[in-house]
Amino acid sequence: MIYQQPELPYALDALEPVISKDTIKFHYGKHEKAYIDNLNNLIKGTKYEDMNLEDIIRLSDGALFNNASQAWNHIFYFFSFSPEGGGSPDGDLAEAINSQFGSFNEFKKAFVEAGVKLFGSGWVWLSKDGNGRLFITQGKNAENPLTQGLTPLLCFDVWEHAYYLDYQNRRADSLNSLWDIIDWSVIGSRF
Ligand code: MN
Repeated sequence: MIYQQPELPYALDALEPVISKDTIKFHYGKHEKAYIDNLNNLIKGTKYEDMNLEDIIRLSDGALFNNASQAWNHIFYFFSFSPEGGGSPDGDLAEAINSQFGSFNEFKKAFVEAGVKLFGSGWVWLSKDGNGRLFITQGKNAENPLTQGLTPLLCFDVWEHAYYLDYQNRRADSLNSLWDIIDWSVIGSRF
């Protein structure tokens, strides 16, 4: 199987000013494309060649894990956004967030704090377990909650390449601004 980079469901400048056109061009167009190209090269002629991406992530390690997971993580991240995003979740996800974190605002605070406190490169994740219990976790580098048996719902990329062009060193500002473009209908459909 040869993995293709999916086309984004919005224009390159559609998420401005939260994420600039330049950041999308580099982050999705260059960084993410490189992970997918590396993934395709690494699985060629191996037992992973016809495996789906989630299984590759669960079963591989080293360079293959890093590239497979980063390929998946970025698609998950970029497909969580919409120029009409923002607001707050509703339905079952809203209820779960309120009951576990106190309120949507308390959840947002805890999520951004986990991202700000992650030292170095990685991701902050909201995931659920088989009982619908929610977890905020930090993942270093390419780490993905799939490897812990969890179902990812939302992630923020805290690698510097995600925000440096637009926010320089201000990671907290970049993470707080992402709430304005989150498409909660997508996140809710993952719950
Ligand atoms: Mn990234």
